[in-house]
Amino acid sequence: MVCNYRFCKQIISTYKNGNRRYCDQECYESEKRERSKENYQAIKQLLKEIKCTESIFRNFYKLYGSTPINSNILKAEEINWSLMTSFKEIDGQNVRFVGSYGYSKLENNYIKLYKL
Ligand SMILES: [Zn+2]
Repeated sequence: MVCNYRFCKQIISTYKNGNRRYCDQECYESEKRERSKENYQAIKQLLKEIKCTESIFRNFYKLYGSTPINSNILKAEEINWSLMTSFKEIDGQNVRFVGSYGYSKLENNYIKLYKL
C-alpha cells in the first residue's frame, strides 16, 4: 500500500494497518487541501467559460436580437454547447441559458437567441 498523498507516495507498512490510505493525518490533510485547490481551479475555469460564452451570446443578441440565425455564424466562436446554467420553456421552445442569455434550436441548423 502506498500513501495517497500525491507528493508523498511512501509505502505504508502493512503491519501498521491493512487498509490505511495515508501515512498519517498530515498526509491526509495535505491531500485534502490539494483536492480542494483543484476543485477551486475547476470552478474558476468553469465560471470563466460561462462568462465567456455568455458574452458571445450577448454580442450576437445585440446584433440579431430574437431573429433566428444560422448557427454556422457562431462556428468560429467555438462555443461549448454542453454548457448550461438554466433551462426554460418559452413559447413551447426549450431554451438553454448560459447566464442571462440563451438559445433554442430551430430547424435547419437555426437558433434563436433569448435574454432573461
Ligand atoms: Zn504520506
